[in-house]
Amino acid sequence: MFNRSRRNLARWFTLSMGSILILFAATLYYLRAEDKLKALDQLLYKKTRIMAASVQYELRQDQPQVDLNNVPLLGNSLQPLDTELVYVRWYNAQGQLKRFFGAPPSEQLSASPGFLSLNDPAPTDRWLRQVTLPVQEGNRLLGYLQIAVPLTDTQADLRQFQLVLTLTVPIALILIGFTGWQLGGLAMQPIRQAYMQLQRFTADASHELRSPLSAILTNAQVGMLLAKDAPEIQPSLANIIDSSKSINSLVSNLLLLARHSGRIASELLKPVILNNLLEELAADYTAEVAKHDIKLVTHLPKHPIELRADLELLRQAVKNLLSNACKYTPAGGTVWLRLETHSHQAMIQVVDTGIGIAKTDLPHIFERFYRVDTERARESGGFGLGLAIAQQIVQAHGGQIYVTSTEGKGSTFQIELPL
Ligand code: ADP
Repeated sequence: MFNRSRRNLARWFTLSMGSILILFAATLYYLRAEDKLKALDQLLYKKTRIMAASVQYELRQDQPQVDLNNVPLLGNSLQPLDTELVYVRWYNAQGQLKRFFGAPPSEQLSASPGFLSLNDPAPTDRWLRQVTLPVQEGNRLLGYLQIAVPLTDTQADLRQFQLVLTLTVPIALILIGFTGWQLGGLAMQPIRQAYMQLQRFTADASHELRSPLSAILTNAQVGMLLAKDAPEIQPSLANIIDSSKSINSLVSNLLLLARHSGRIASELLKPVILNNLLEELAADYTAEVAKHDIKLVTHLPKHPIELRADLELLRQAVKNLLSNACKYTPAGGTVWLRLETHSHQAMIQVVDTGIGIAKTDLPHIFERFYRVDTERARESGGFGLGLAIAQQIVQAHGGQIYVTSTEGKGSTFQIELPL
């Protein structure tokens, strides 16, 4: 129970912290990419401005005649070779291609002024950053200068950053998971202590109550014998005897619940042959079922099914199911006790044709002190602990208990124990 809560705490902690971490890493990556692109754009802009400064023009008949001879890479004069540039293009004011360096472009300017990332198709198949700059003289547009550089360095840098993130994020997630587990342990400590104290208190109180209860019962029984000649006090004494028996059973049940929480240590388990145990229990109930006109049918396999268990506890668990089946099955009904094995599990089934359990009650019937029909249960002497005890015993053996039921038709309780 505590380990499950601790696991849940650790899982939620890892999940929430992990989401924050991943969001943080993604933001970091995005900011870095934006930063790199901004720096590249500034450099690209600077280069274009230098080139644009080399563009000369003169007015002939009020029309600008552009001279590109001094523009690096576009002009005829000796120019410094900027190997970084993939292409340089000059379009006139109408957007028609006039001169270019690099791969032949389309005749008409297609991109609008500004920055653009685009894929340079085969054979290079790489990403480029392109700038298209309108070149003006005063208010007069002379043309458009378009240049591009490869994004290879920026991409390589981002890939490296991505690699660092993909390596560090899982490590951080593992550390977060470990911290969550430790914190979960710390958070569970006071709850575990309080639970232990409560268990100890219940066990001690139940233990202490047993002696005075036995004394009351014995004295009432002796009183009953002595009061043979006083019939007027006999009902009161019978009442005391019934009540003390009932409280005695409640105290024993509470003691059982308090003492056997959690898994039973494996060294305390002994080999048990389930066929023998169920046969004995069926024999114990022969008189009880006959009294209530119920048929008890047992289906046990011929080969012995053996597992390691605490015999007395297991007997108690099956007994609780059998006694419920008898209690809640009207006369003329049938109760089946079955034993099977199924993929390394022993399955004990107690099936009845009794009153069944409503769908709304099914999720609660294993809770302590939960009774479907309080009046009826009290009449039959139940405190609502029988199933809670059965479940606790089965879980203490590493097994599970399941129920299916249809109101008015009957119920099936199934115990699954690892073989
Ligand atoms: P109790 O000791 O009161 O029977 P249990 O824990 O054994 O308490 O059962 C809880 C409730 O589940 C009961 O009050 C009863 O209403 C219901 N229940 C248990 N077994 C059966 C059954 N075989 N058929 C119908 N109802 C059942």
